[in-house]
Amino acid sequence: MEPLLEVDSLRTTYRRQGRTRTAVRDASFVVHAGEVVGIVGESGSGKSTALMSVLGLLPPNAEVVSGRLLFDGVDLRTAGEAVLRSVRGREIGLVPQRPMTSLSPVTRVRRQIRRLLRHHRSEDPARSDATIADLLHRVGLGGVTGRLDNYPHQFSGGQLQRLLIAIAAVGARPRLLFADEPTTTLDPTVAAQILRLLRDLRDELGLAIVFVSHDLRSVAQLCDRVYVMYAGDIVEEGDVRSIFDEPRHPYTRALLDSIPGRHTPLEPMPVLAGSVSSLPEDRRGCSFAPRCAIAVEVCHENTPELLPAAGGQVACHRYPAGGGTPSDLGEDR
Ligand code: ATP
Ligand code: MG
Repeated sequence: MEPLLEVDSLRTTYRRQGRTRTAVRDASFVVHAGEVVGIVGESGSGKSTALMSVLGLLPPNAEVVSGRLLFDGVDLRTAGEAVLRSVRGREIGLVPQRPMTSLSPVTRVRRQIRRLLRHHRSEDPARSDATIADLLHRVGLGGVTGRLDNYPHQFSGGQLQRLLIAIAAVGARPRLLFADEPTTTLDPTVAAQILRLLRDLRDELGLAIVFVSHDLRSVAQLCDRVYVMYAGDIVEEGDVRSIFDEPRHPYTRALLDSIPGRHTPLEPMPVLAGSVSSLPEDRRGCSFAPRCAIAVEVCHENTPELLPAAGGQVACHRYPAGGGTPSDLGEDR
């Protein structure tokens, strides 16, 4: 089956103070209809930039330098603004990383929902109150229908997040939803409710979801398949079980080891030192090499390709193509 979304060798740069920085370096990923795909990686790894590149919502100092962004077979990169406008919101919904920035603090919530529904679905204003009530009910917000003439700050963060998911996923009826860190600012119980909501929406509406997060526990609960990003590169891909039970890339293993209380059968990796942003722009070799405990010379010289591995793909010179387990890697250190 053809993927719903196929991102092929996407490269996106930002210009700042006369310098150009590559935020996404030839990343490829696919999303099939009805699939929940996680993108994980620490802050600054390029997760949001990848999603915004697909939607054509990058700031003016950003540029998609190369790559194909095929949605349902149409390349969104070359299709033009009219096609993008018809896809954005209607075919691909977005729950943005900072929900409060997508709502106006000085406009009553009912007006904002109506406006968004009109934009996404040419909703008839006469019908929109019934639609809104139905929408709120779907996401467990039936109790706030009487308070819609309030302003956003009079709702809790979890309620607003549900509201935005309701509009993006239910009101607009897209085929694909980009949920960029939808639970990061919420407390754990509310976050768990949001995860359940996303799962239900997938089951009920057949919605495909790209779930971006650095919370690996949420990813494990929600996703079918996972991409791990590091410094603009996709370093590992796999079904959720293989990523969590048999991580192959040293970065994935370090990320998993950083989950408190997680039992790991693998030998411990040292706590990650340094950060993504300390990488030089003209780096050669594997982006992770400067922080990798098992890097050898070739890791600093050549960029590893993402190659098939059991249950997924991995970009690591130290991963034995002919088999072997990740723990074999540490032994000859
Ligand atoms: P987070 O988990 O913090 O949301 P992320 O994985 O979504 O991180 P991005 O926001 O995509 O990462 O950022 C990737 C890189 O691009 C970072 O180095 C960041 O500093 C840079 N960047 C992002 N937005 C801009 C911008 N508007 N101008 C310049 N550089 C930017
Ligand atoms: Mg982000």
